[in-house]
Amino acid sequence: MKIYNSKTHAKEDFRPIEEGRVRMYVCGPTVYDNIHIGNARTFISFDVIRRWLIASGYEVTFAQNLTDVDDKIINRANEQGRTAEDVATEFSERFIEVMHRANVMDPDVRPRATKEIGPMIGMIKALIEQGHAYAADNGDVYFSVRSDPSYGEVSGRKIDDLMVGARIEENEDKNDPLDFALWKAAKPGEPQWNSPWGPGRPGWHTECAAMVHRYLGTPIDIHGGGSDLAFPHHENECAQATCAWHEGFANTWMHTGMLLVDGEKMSKSLGNFFTLEEVLEKHSAAALRLLMLQTHYRSPLDFSWERLEGAENSLERIATCVENLMWAANHASGEADADRGAALIAAAERAAAEFEASMDDDFNTAGAVAAYFQLVTEANTYLDEVGGAADAEACTACAAGVAGAFSVLGVGLREPKEELPVGLLGVAAGLVAYTGDDVDEAAERILAARAEARAAKNWELADAIRDQLRDMGLVIEDTAAGSRLKRA
Ligand code: AMP
Ligand code: ZN
Repeated sequence: MKIYNSKTHAKEDFRPIEEGRVRMYVCGPTVYDNIHIGNARTFISFDVIRRWLIASGYEVTFAQNLTDVDDKIINRANEQGRTAEDVATEFSERFIEVMHRANVMDPDVRPRATKEIGPMIGMIKALIEQGHAYAADNGDVYFSVRSDPSYGEVSGRKIDDLMVGARIEENEDKNDPLDFALWKAAKPGEPQWNSPWGPGRPGWHTECAAMVHRYLGTPIDIHGGGSDLAFPHHENECAQATCAWHEGFANTWMHTGMLLVDGEKMSKSLGNFFTLEEVLEKHSAAALRLLMLQTHYRSPLDFSWERLEGAENSLERIATCVENLMWAANHASGEADADRGAALIAAAERAAAEFEASMDDDFNTAGAVAAYFQLVTEANTYLDEVGGAADAEACTACAAGVAGAFSVLGVGLREPKEELPVGLLGVAAGLVAYTGDDVDEAAERILAARAEARAAKNWELADAIRDQLRDMGLVIEDTAAGSRLKRA
């Protein structure tokens, strides 16, 4: 398996530190508001990456934090006349709930910043003792960026270039404009904890470093987040961890591309966002995921409702193909053309091989999905051409391949239609004098009656059958292997 390491700018052979086991950490949200689908892109991308590692046989330990103390949370609480804790609790719960709706697996460990103050203070103490950090007169503690010779390596920045930006926000409490806060002295009315440097709260970069060390142990195999986190957040996390513990921090850095709207990054501050909740009101989680997976995780992805609609249609086409294959398998007449069946099985095997090769090539979901779109086209052609004489084994293998591949990606195809309603017995009785109590048989009778009516050009009866079915929420679908009743 090859993974692009954004630190080295190269695709590398993936070799976890411990054979067969992967430890990964992905920065979680700051819980001050509902997440938007840009945030969701990052979380869904790493969910798929994690699922593929698991499907490849690795035992994966996945940790993700909740940043539940931060300026944004405090500001939101002040605006709304609530406590910061109340705001953070509400949006943590909503985040977890909407991640479930998006079919994102729960992390194995979900630490919260406010519950990890002790380990963070421990890390800051270790940094001060080793001369990498200092307590300023105002009660803040800063990290000395120049004390870390490897600073800049995660994001590919040079100290001299950083100085240009840092001078603009010069702060007299820091020894050097590049230094960043590990601990922020308490301001009145803000959440605060006691520390050797007085009451205060941790800086954002501090929590991830401490949590990675506490829950996964350093170094870890994979550290991820959106590309906007590479600097300064990931750079600063790495600087603290390497200077505190001298064990290295993360072997592979993975960064997802940004979700854009009309070419601009989707963000709260620009106001060009749609929340994940509102998108899932209108569209299925599977369609949103499919849309995202059709672009490689590192590339930017331009979101539009039309593209989401397109993904919804593609999903419908895939699910219908699986249903048609299963239906054809269940109604196979036993007179199938063996060569054609073998060709369909070969096509399914080709798709599986291409899927695996694409996913092993830096999680190329776009290639993986395309392999199965191609198989769906081939399966549809097969069903059209064989008419009723389908090869049951080939159809079953092909349907299982398609459904299995999308399931590995976390894209749920719609559930097979539930049983046809019992009311059908009454419709059958009224239309074709069927008085038994087998719904499937009633459906067969109705379909046969409708076929007969059409053959006899008895449009009145054919229409009456269609209308009564429609009133029950059913439609007749004519497939290559015959007609069947479906829920509309
Ligand atoms: P935040 O709560 O702002 O720290 O964001 C949570 C995650 O969403 C981080 O990994 C960000 O990099 C990521 N993120 C934010 N905006 C976007 C976007 N437009 N597209 C993709 N990921 C994003
Ligand atoms: Zn982080």
